[in-house]
Amino acid sequence: MAKRILVVGGAGYIGAHTAFALGRAGYDALVFDNLSTGRREFLRFGRHIIGDLADRGALDDLFSENAFDAVMHFASRINVGESVADPGKYYRANVADSLNLLEAVRDHGVKHFIFSSSAAVYGLPQGPLTEGHPFSPINPYGKTKAAVEWMLADFSAAYGLKYCALRYFNAAGAAPVASGAKIGEMHEPETHLIPLVLQAARKGESATVFGTDYSTPDGTCIRDYIHVCDLAEAHILAMQRLMSGEQSAAFNLGGGRGFSVREVIEAARRVTEINVAMREAPRRPGDPDTLVSVNAKARTELGWEPRYADLEYIVRTAWDWERERSRSLTFEQS
Ligand code: UDP
Repeated sequence: MAKRILVVGGAGYIGAHTAFALGRAGYDALVFDNLSTGRREFLRFGRHIIGDLADRGALDDLFSENAFDAVMHFASRINVGESVADPGKYYRANVADSLNLLEAVRDHGVKHFIFSSSAAVYGLPQGPLTEGHPFSPINPYGKTKAAVEWMLADFSAAYGLKYCALRYFNAAGAAPVASGAKIGEMHEPETHLIPLVLQAARKGESATVFGTDYSTPDGTCIRDYIHVCDLAEAHILAMQRLMSGEQSAAFNLGGGRGFSVREVIEAARRVTEINVAMREAPRRPGDPDTLVSVNAKARTELGWEPRYADLEYIVRTAWDWERERSRSLTFEQS
């Protein structure tokens, strides 16, 4: 019988791509999502239940009615600026609700847990970003991710839960059109560079560059963009590793190389064949100049090999999604 996987937050961007990948890999995915930021139209991969992690009764029902071989936990608020302005919302959604989930997992004897962590746990780089880099988050969002990693370590020590914390760098791109998945990035409000540049291309507007005076070769920030389908694949590998009896671990999920904001805009110009204008703006508070992963551990221990590392390919899949999405928006409005 297919292994049953609970995908909490499976109506969101990365969760939906992983639910899709789980189905294709022969797993029985059950999505649990409160649709606070997830999309109802992404609930097409396996069964789903609309429910909230704050509701312990709903969780007890869910776990009593289903025996899960693993839980993947994607549900999270992700807007750094909002986390600074409204930290309580972030501690409640990302920490308190995760604690509810972990207690339900403990009480119902689920053995394997995969957590969506973030490079934000590291804060300002003090050296190469290996998994051993100290935790020094500089905003509430990063602190909530660090807090859940600590909770997981303590639950693992006390109750024997096996977990992987997957520290994402910059998730980007969308499932290729040929996959038929019709899912992609769709945040409201959108704050991420690639979708914003592509929206600017589509609308004939200019893309904003936050900071051109960083100590990088072209003066703009360097980030490590990783295709969302590569992230999805890593979740399955991490889960299989735990199921094979390996110990809990944390892994960086990034491509291991960086691209500047200008390079991203240039890639978007090539892909879209639209000469997107650049508008220079002041630095965004709290942005370090460079964030690039060391991904050797995921490569060697998970056998993970990012398949879609090419920036232009990442941007192309995001562009295909942007056009698909805008077509359905036009359709809805007409
Ligand atoms: N950025 C930008 N213009 C935008 C959005 C983002 O110049 O409209 C920059 C941002 O300052 C950062 C990089 O692009 O250096 C990636 O930002 P994003 O919000 O996509 O991801 P983050 O690295 O903050 O997780």
